[in-house]
Amino acid sequence: MKFILLRWVKYYTKEIAKALEVTIFGAIIIGSVVWIKYKPAYEVELFGEKLGYIENKDNLELEYQNFIENVTGNVAFKEKTTFPKYELKLINRDKQTEEKEILLALESTVKTTYRTYAVTVDGEKKTSVATEEEAKNIVESLKSDVDADMIGLNIGIIEEYTDDLQLQSTEEASGILNTFKVAKITAYNNEQEAKRKVVEEDAKKKIISTKTVQNVGTIAGINLARPVSGSITSRYGSRSSIRSGRHTGLDIATSKGTPITPIAPGTVTCAQRKGSYGNLVIINHGNGIESYYAHCSEIYAGVGQKVDCSTVISAVGSTGNSTGPHLHLEIRQNGTPLNPEDYLY
Ligand SMILES: [Zn+2]
Repeated sequence: MKFILLRWVKYYTKEIAKALEVTIFGAIIIGSVVWIKYKPAYEVELFGEKLGYIENKDNLELEYQNFIENVTGNVAFKEKTTFPKYELKLINRDKQTEEKEILLALESTVKTTYRTYAVTVDGEKKTSVATEEEAKNIVESLKSDVDADMIGLNIGIIEEYTDDLQLQSTEEASGILNTFKVAKITAYNNEQEAKRKVVEEDAKKKIISTKTVQNVGTIAGINLARPVSGSITSRYGSRSSIRSGRHTGLDIATSKGTPITPIAPGTVTCAQRKGSYGNLVIINHGNGIESYYAHCSEIYAGVGQKVDCSTVISAVGSTGNSTGPHLHLEIRQNGTPLNPEDYLY
């Protein structure tokens, strides 16, 4: 019995050893074949898309990290927007891994934020340059030849963070900002001009208010006042080399710009340039009476305007057929010129 058992054990031990030998041998053969034909590699997946294979996952991660931390120039910081997935696989030994391409693909997913310096006008961004120093220099040079406060050139610098890097060169930035400076200067000059005009108008009004409206005669029941003071240089009816017929009015010489007021209240019927009269104002006083004010340097009155003896209708000038600043005054009754000296002066 003991002998049979021993033989049985011996037999099976031998069989098991044989089977084991075959298995190990087979595994080695298969392993070697696999090893010759295949190699281990990581398959990289990004946004659910398989990018390719790399041999060393740690190397890739390290290079990726170096790229993130490499912050130079206008780059303020970089952020990862995704993390790749790795899967260890066996790939054909002949297959090339793609470390470079995959690193580039990873780098392209990085969000980069840039720091720039914006120059503002009235708090509104107008241009961006690379450095704070550059911005300061531009602002300084822009303000160098003007009184920025006086012209209202409110210019500032702000540090700005953006993912869309758009820088201007010093020349471009200066050019852009200069157009705003020119606009401010123009606006300032216009404002000054408007102020000057107001002062001028006030001065004219003063002249009128101090000029006493004196009725010096009447025509057709209308009281008359002198439109300007001055010296009579050409009388009604006189002949002259500069005109064809007889003089239909009275010339009163005085300095250019002297305010002209109507001889009597009425309505303006003409306020424009008219041939040899130059700038002409005509006023209808009713009762068939009209007055003409010619050669004016400027016309202030408008057609249809109601005027009285204190309204400045125009200024003395030398427009039209004239040799020097004077007022050519005509008084007409039903269209026929009268001698102003019979009623005024
Ligand atoms: Zn005249």
